[in-house]
Order: sequence, then C-alpha cells, then structure tokens
Amino acid sequence: PIKPMVAGNWKMNGLKAGQAELHKMLAGISDDLADCVDVMICPPATLIASFSEKVTGNVMAIGAQDCHAAASGAHTGDLSAGMIADAGAKAVIVGHSERRTDHGETDADVNAKAQAAWSAGLVAIICVGETEAERKAGEAVAVVERQLAGSVPDGATAQNTVIAYEPVWAIGTGLTPTAGDVAEMHEAMRVDLAKRLGAEGSAMRLLYGGSVKPGNAAELMAVDNVDGALVGGGSLKADDFLGILAAY
Ligand code: 13P
Repeated sequence: PIKPMVAGNWKMNGLKAGQAELHKMLAGISDDLADCVDVMICPPATLIASFSEKVTGNVMAIGAQDCHAAASGAHTGDLSAGMIADAGAKAVIVGHSERRTDHGETDADVNAKAQAAWSAGLVAIICVGETEAERKAGEAVAVVERQLAGSVPDGATAQNTVIAYEPVWAIGTGLTPTAGDVAEMHEAMRVDLAKRLGAEGSAMRLLYGGSVKPGNAAELMAVDNVDGALVGGGSLKADDFLGILAAY
C-alpha cells in the first residue's frame, strides 16, 4: 500500500506570525496520524528556515513552492534547490499552474527544476492539470498525459517524485471534479507512469489538488489511485488543515 501524503501549499501567504498556526497544526497531529500519512507544509520561502526548526521528528516536513533549475549563478531573486534544502526543506513543488501561468514555465522548465530538486536531495512534487477550456473540449486526459511526458524526468522514482493533479479550474474556486472524473484522470496517470517507469510508476504517489476542504477530503481520498492531497486555502488555518487530515 502507498502511504498517502497531504501537503499544504501556502502560496504567497504567511508572515512570521503564521508560526502560531504551525504550532497549532503540530499540536494536533498525533503520532498515529503521522504513521498513516506524510504531512507537509510548503510556506513562502521566507519561512522555510524558521518552520523547519520548529518541526522535529516525523510529524511534519517542510517544503518549498518553487526552485530554479540551476545550482547557482546570476539569477537575481531566484532560489536554487540547494538553498532550499540548506534552509531545511525536504521537498519542492515544481510546475504549479500558477507558476506555469504567471511565469510562463514550460514542461521543459519543470523537468529541469525536478532534476535540480533531486540533485539537492529534495523530493519533487510535480504539478499537472488541465484548464476549464481543455476539459470542456474533452482534452483533459490528453493534456495531462502530455504534461507528464514533458515534466517528469526519466529518473523519477516513487521516492524522489510525487505527482499532483490539479485541474486549474478547481484551484481556489470551491469547484471540484466529480469523483468519477478524478478516478478517470488518476487511473490514466497511473497507467501512463507505470508504462514508462515500471514499478516506480506504480508506487508513485498521485495527489489530488483543487478546493480540497474538510468536507470533501474523505470522498476525494477514497477515489482509486488518489494517494493524498495538495491543499491551498484549506492549509492556511490549523483547524481546516487538521479537519482535512482527519480524513486519513
Ligand atoms: P486551493 O486548495 O486553494 O484550491 O489550491 C489548490 C492548490 O493550488 C494547491 O497547490
């Protein structure tokens, strides 16, 4: 069985005062829960170091939201995977749709970032997902398969990579696909990854993301080939996040 992962993506939210929320989360995660699910919070980069110091044992890991593909150099304002690892992160989200849209990141960019993450010893959480127009056109599965082919490097294993399916139209909208649509997509991703990566693809965690809330987490988690969640808004407040974790 695949151990699920629930990762919270704080996006561009959170100041030092946000530590209070982190403390509440840590206090609410029992050892039993931590045995059942890998919990992660990906705060803004400014908080990675301080959050990492607060997280001890295996209750929670801290991740980052992006990294540059290069190890160092003249890239003003960017952070390398090595810097993120040095600050205490264990994983990094790459290819989030907001990065693809806001910063024009391509599948090739995401692929290079994932490899940079591995080089720094980080797990790459690679995001894919179709737009509303693509789903309406019946192209959702084809789009996601194309993104997987381009964004997931050949060396991907179940240990160094997590895939997050996040339909763009479900992010921050309160809308979610039907359980049937999630099942169809996750099945297609599983078949695709297993064909390409063998046993590693069969064991790779496939997270669902997009308007995951305490009220729908259990239903989404129960879908075949859904091995956890990538949570945005629902991860900012400890009560919400712990409510989502309760589904596990
Ligand atoms: P929401 O949970 O706010 O819809 O965001 C999902 C997301 O983009 C997580 O990366």
